[in-house]
Amino acid sequence: MKLGPLENDTIAAIATAPGRGALGIVRVSGAAAIPICDGIFRGKQSLAEAGDRTALVGEVTRRDGAALDQVLVLATRGPRTATGEDVVEITCHGGMLVPRLIMRRLTEEGARPAEPGEFTKRAFLNGKIDLAQAEAVEEIVRATSEKALEVAMRQLKGELSRSMEGLERGLLEWLTLIEANIDFVEDEIDTIDDAALAEALGAASRRLEDLLAAHEQGKYLRDGLDVTIVGKPNAGKSSIFNRLVGHDRAIVSETPGTTRDVVDGLVGVDGVVLRLHDTAGVRLPADRIEAEAIRRTKQTIADADIVLVVLDASTGLGAEDYDILGEVAFKPSVVVANKADLPRAETPPSFWEEAGGVAGKHQPGIRVSALTGLGLPELVERLGWMAREKVGDLNYEIIVNERHARALRDALGSVERASASVKDGVPLEFIASDIRFALDCLGDVTGKRATSRVLEEIFSRFCVGK
Ligand code: GDP
Repeated sequence: MKLGPLENDTIAAIATAPGRGALGIVRVSGAAAIPICDGIFRGKQSLAEAGDRTALVGEVTRRDGAALDQVLVLATRGPRTATGEDVVEITCHGGMLVPRLIMRRLTEEGARPAEPGEFTKRAFLNGKIDLAQAEAVEEIVRATSEKALEVAMRQLKGELSRSMEGLERGLLEWLTLIEANIDFVEDEIDTIDDAALAEALGAASRRLEDLLAAHEQGKYLRDGLDVTIVGKPNAGKSSIFNRLVGHDRAIVSETPGTTRDVVDGLVGVDGVVLRLHDTAGVRLPADRIEAEAIRRTKQTIADADIVLVVLDASTGLGAEDYDILGEVAFKPSVVVANKADLPRAETPPSFWEEAGGVAGKHQPGIRVSALTGLGLPELVERLGWMAREKVGDLNYEIIVNERHARALRDALGSVERASASVKDGVPLEFIASDIRFALDCLGDVTGKRATSRVLEEIFSRFCVGK
């Protein structure tokens, strides 16, 4: 892919997060990176004189020559750099002011402020990484759990791309063979072995299905699992919610840049993020309470990945509890009997037998008290265990994002069509065309066929400085 005219200029951006901090990093990339930085740098040596990959200590100067800040500057010459171009990294003091003033100096010397993701985009355009790897950079920055980070790192190293290549190679061999048969039908060279072709297409389908399953599981890794808390009024849902959210304050935060409408609370358990939803806040007009409450509860339960059923141990089971337990019978769920601290909560054995029987779970319910904290560690452990089970079988190999999934689904559709055609004895031309289309779709994942619009869409989601 050729660089457009604008992409030949030299870009600069503050790579560190805004706000107070000990250090800031300003990155510069492009053909004029070294002369531009020399224009604002004063040290024993200029960057142009220093050897490649030599760190220099010195000062960034104001326009009038006065010192602006003490800095450490590292110049690396392309093409053996992250972007493939000359890259200079200026490590300066942090804070709101210094990095910005350095940016201003750089633009005065001819650099242009970088667009979001532009460094990574250049790395892609210069063939340093493919598109799936470029996206991994963003996944790393956005990762909210260690697991998600681990998978993103693998993608950065090219795991998904290699997987695509494997699939492509297999399909391409068959396509070549089929096309040869179409062209030289008379010569009886290498006739197509239908059984072997069907087998190969079947294997490709299975691989694509696995990748799409990884997409589902990857969503859990990235976005977390939805855990919905249900129970009759006053069972203690809100109290338990607060206790659980308080369990790991470090992870509780508004995540900037995410576009979720309602995030009730985030809890990190064993490297997986649980998004807790408390249903206690639903208030309804009196005349419609019954039907509407049931409808809403059903919907929330249906949408949840895991349901946390809160029963009131001090009152025993009521009709409402049975309704809920019936609803969750086929969902991954945890049943807790809250208020176990109350004297009346000497739960008779039948309580659990009933609850467990109705919910159809092998796992016994947990006696908890939102008031005293009794049983909560066990509940957290159980939730973690269930979350792992959901995220589970994924061998943490690959991230398949929404864009990849779309391409893979299209590829799978064509491979399946080709399979059916082989079975039905459809002419080879049709099979070839389906395989060709599947190959195009696979190419989309790594960006072999990416249009500038697609690139625009991908890189605009990045942060500036990446
Ligand atoms: P929700 O309507 O299900 O959300 O229930 P709340 O969390 O608002 O709790 C209802 C009432 O039960 C409040 O007065 C709580 O203080 C009380 N409560 C909640 N959990 C416990 C508990 O474990 N033990 C006791 N004794 N009271 C509790």
